[in-house]
Amino acid sequence: MREKLDELKKRFALVDDLGRAAAVLSWDQQTYMPPRGASARAEQLATLEKLAHEHFIADENGALLNDLAEYAAQLPYDSDDAGMIRVTKREYAKAKRVPPALVEEMARAAALAFEAWHNARAESNFKLFQPYLAKNVELRIQLADHLGYSDRIYDALLDQYEPEMTTAQVEAIFTPLRKEIVALVQQIARKADAVDAAVLHREYDEQKQWDFGVEVIKRIGFDFARGRQDKAPHPFTTGFGLDDVRITTRVAKNFLPTMLFGTIHETGHALYDMGYRAELERTPLGGAASLGVHESQSRMWENVVGRSRGFWQFWFPRLREIFPAQLADQNVESFYRAINKVAPSLIRVEADEVTYGLHIMLRFEIENALVERKLRAADVPDAWNAKIKEYLGVVPPNDAQGCLQDVHWSYGDLGYFATYLLGSMFAAQLYDKVVRDLPALPEQIARGEYGELLNWLRANIHTHGRKFTLDELARRVTGEPLHARSYVAYLKKKFGEIYGV
Ligand code: ZN
Repeated sequence: MREKLDELKKRFALVDDLGRAAAVLSWDQQTYMPPRGASARAEQLATLEKLAHEHFIADENGALLNDLAEYAAQLPYDSDDAGMIRVTKREYAKAKRVPPALVEEMARAAALAFEAWHNARAESNFKLFQPYLAKNVELRIQLADHLGYSDRIYDALLDQYEPEMTTAQVEAIFTPLRKEIVALVQQIARKADAVDAAVLHREYDEQKQWDFGVEVIKRIGFDFARGRQDKAPHPFTTGFGLDDVRITTRVAKNFLPTMLFGTIHETGHALYDMGYRAELERTPLGGAASLGVHESQSRMWENVVGRSRGFWQFWFPRLREIFPAQLADQNVESFYRAINKVAPSLIRVEADEVTYGLHIMLRFEIENALVERKLRAADVPDAWNAKIKEYLGVVPPNDAQGCLQDVHWSYGDLGYFATYLLGSMFAAQLYDKVVRDLPALPEQIARGEYGELLNWLRANIHTHGRKFTLDELARRVTGEPLHARSYVAYLKKKFGEIYGV
């Protein structure tokens, strides 16, 4: 059995290498590649992803997985080998259903659509992106048909990002959550003037912002010997290996939170990508459990930690040293309130914690309508504008600030957005458990000490890599399945105090 397992690992190491190499090319496309490099890059990415897919679905792998089934059944569920065989078997069965030609076509279409989206957003002209979006949607419908689903077509797509989660489960969580959020938004709206966030819109030198961000994330635990940070139009994190994790950020001269919380957010992702055990490197378990779990890490650092009063008790004096004129009339409390101002807005990544969920719900609904063919790509701007008006009472002045704002649909990443809100919920659920385990954590955060929190996350989440699903992790770590109660309680407590509602 040992030889068969080693043979399987060797085969998957090759697949992993191909995937990571594609990630390098994709990272380069979004950071340094000159604009006209796009079509050559599209071919290179398509080739690599097709190769990775072909090597993954090789019949020999299926035979090895079959031969190892009995052995795996005798192992404890949470052993590395059992986890690897279980996760791979599931992924293999799915991948086997997808023709390599479709994988290649999706990769090529995505690389071209990214470029089209980039231009369309810059010119705020949806028409430039529309045919590419239509193509991506069509390819995802084909993909879902190959993958198969029993209830909703969206299930097949969601499963790519959040294994074993269904559309119905997400709706069952989102529907009551939406009522809670809308009620809170309405209560806060009646006291909208209680928080003044003008300080965030003053002029902040971009290089100084960048340097401050680096100082913060180094202290949090981002290791620049094992990663680097660059600029990208839409911040993201990607891992080329356990010891080479790339984060990206963007800096806005007149809006401090863009850099600040974007950088902390991506660092949360990076710490996860730097945190699985070295033995899992180049195996199918060397990565994140799911995007929802990934997002729980980024949003815990960004929001639960990074937008807390304690965090700024430590960092505000330092920030005021760097920007003495801009922050002369501020103190920890006024700054804390400013960074937590709740106001319906157009841009998801700049949304406050309370309204954020509504941005996700509208995307989740539009994606469902697209793949169920209830909505055409051409009608996305109208659908978007109607929904954001209904949920948040705001109307985008143009599509750049509306349906073109996110990069995801250019990659064809339909089924992805729900994981953002699942991640916020899981972050709150995990944090409840963290502070039960580490009662001194709030004081540590107020002293700028994050080591115990990071160690807890390493031991309870990061170390497992992809071994467990979100739901399995939730049960193992918190004793309960994923739920929204901690998240709702967190929002009500924090923003109830800030707004006196
Ligand atoms: Zn994220």
